[in-house]
Amino acid sequence: MQWFPSTHSEQVSQAYGGSLKRRLAWRLTRPSLYAYLTLALALLGGVLGQRLSEASGLAQLAALASERLELYAATLESELARHNYLPSLIAIDEQVQAMLGAPQDLTLRAEVARKLSRINVRAGAMLTFITDARGQMLASSHLSTPRSAPEAAQVQRALDSGAEHFFAADAVDGSTRFFLIQPVRRASQVLGAIVVQLSLAPLEATWVDLGLRSQSEKLLVIDANDVVIMSSVPEWKYRILGSSDQAQAEALRRLGRYPGASLQPMNIPHDSLQQSDAALVPVPALPGQATQLLAQERPVAQLGVRLVTLSDPSEVWRGARYAAWGGAAVGASIGLLALYLASRRRALRQVFQAQAALQKAHAQLEHLVDERTAELRSTNQELKHQIAQRLQAEDELVQAGKLAVLGQMSAGISHEINQPLTALRALSRNTLLLLEKQRLQSVADNLKAIDDVTERMSVITRALKNFARKAEAAGQVQAAPLRESLQNVRVLLEHRLRAEQVELIEEIDERGGELLVNADANRLEQVLVNLFTNAMDAMQDQLQRRITVAAERRDGRVQVRVIDSGPGMDERQQARLFEPFFTTKPAGQGLGLGLVISSKIVHEFGGTLRAHRSLDGGMCFEFDLEPAAKDPHV
Ligand code: ADP
Repeated sequence: MQWFPSTHSEQVSQAYGGSLKRRLAWRLTRPSLYAYLTLALALLGGVLGQRLSEASGLAQLAALASERLELYAATLESELARHNYLPSLIAIDEQVQAMLGAPQDLTLRAEVARKLSRINVRAGAMLTFITDARGQMLASSHLSTPRSAPEAAQVQRALDSGAEHFFAADAVDGSTRFFLIQPVRRASQVLGAIVVQLSLAPLEATWVDLGLRSQSEKLLVIDANDVVIMSSVPEWKYRILGSSDQAQAEALRRLGRYPGASLQPMNIPHDSLQQSDAALVPVPALPGQATQLLAQERPVAQLGVRLVTLSDPSEVWRGARYAAWGGAAVGASIGLLALYLASRRRALRQVFQAQAALQKAHAQLEHLVDERTAELRSTNQELKHQIAQRLQAEDELVQAGKLAVLGQMSAGISHEINQPLTALRALSRNTLLLLEKQRLQSVADNLKAIDDVTERMSVITRALKNFARKAEAAGQVQAAPLRESLQNVRVLLEHRLRAEQVELIEEIDERGGELLVNADANRLEQVLVNLFTNAMDAMQDQLQRRITVAAERRDGRVQVRVIDSGPGMDERQQARLFEPFFTTKPAGQGLGLGLVISSKIVHEFGGTLRAHRSLDGGMCFEFDLEPAAKDPHV
């Protein structure tokens, strides 16, 4: 029986197949969507992290550099302002005034030179000297100073332009010098100038030192010509900040303020510095340093120079890289979280869907089971009905078989009853005659003979009646004495045994007492009658006719054997013995059902009917029966 009709299983498989396809499609598309989303979020997070970190890092760096810039500017200003007073102080000295009034007086110049020397030492300046209006040296704090100061032209230019100071490079060692100039006038005519020369080398050395030690920002001091006049990086000194051409460099060289300097351009875009407080600018390559630095500028108007710091943003960028990774990780985490939440939601939905599908399938199954159970119940009923019908048919067949045997026996039996009847008639007539003659003793003897004859008739009719009655329903077994059944069979077949001169030998082993078997006596007799009849049929042409019935207890069963002295059967016939309608008898004499019915009856008793050739060539039919519980030897 098919529990799931094909239509239902197809529906189920379609439903599951459909959802499987959808699931597969989802697996192919959705996760990659989330993978892209995660990637995009990681990218966005990385970029954002990098940008924000860089912006804040650069702002911090700029703030720090700005503070430092203030500090450097203050240091420079204070360093140079320390000697501001000196030229004007010297200018009001009477001896100096007198010397400027009479520059030919060598004695006076020598005295003034000595005075300048003392002042120079006291003030801690590098050199103090006095020139005439054309810049020619009149007196100097150092005796070795040449008569015409190398900076004469600068002094002259400063006097002409009214400048109070200027920077210039030292022609010998290239160090930066600062010149303070105080013109001395009389009646608005310039007599000369007091010049105090200061060295910025020590200050610059501290910057170089600081820059080398701390890898901090680079510091540049740019003059009005855009030339780096001081730098914490020695390689950049006396280079032009922006880009410059050959002519510009030549013009600067002609000024004489940067003797011996190469005046190479640094190519730092000046505009970017002016546009914002801090800007990233490219710088000439230096070993172990970034090629882009954060530049900040602060003018020192009083000195006519600009201070520029160039800070290394490597740390900022490193931080920005870490922040980028961090941002990417956060972005990826958000993406993965979204993926997790989405898959969890989907998984939950699938679980709910699966549950619903399961419930539906369960309900369908229950419905189907109910339907099938009802069908089964009705089939069962039908089967029971058929079985009952079959049992009834079988019972009827058994009875029909029995009646058929009876029919065959009827001629013999009627003959068997006819004989005593004839005897009875003769005896009763004879008795009447004896009674007329008053021979009472003979009458009594006759009546006794009549009684014997009727007794014999009643035995036959009782046996017939018993045999003919319908047996109990199959399976209704009770203790049946085997010898009694044999006796009944002998009575039923008596006439035939006698007529055909068949010797019936009983070998009932009753050493353990009367043999009782669990069987319905009526049916047991039917089996025996069948076997005896078959044996007699087979022995008809034999010279010697003998049937031996043996019964004994063996292996907890009662074995019964019916052996004849007939011709037996060949193997082929034996193989078909228990087939319905197999008979070798002429039409009208045999139906081929006797052994089938006998075998069925023995089977009902729990035994088996078998056939084989006996030792002397006849057939031996044997069957086993269950000993009855009443049997004390069981
Ligand atoms: P039926 O007696 O109506 O033919 P049975 O089923 O009783 O049907 O017997 C089937 C056949 O088996 C018989 O026709 C006979 O040929 C054979 N047979 C049965 N008993 C014997 C026997 N004792 N000896 C030889 N043949 C037998």
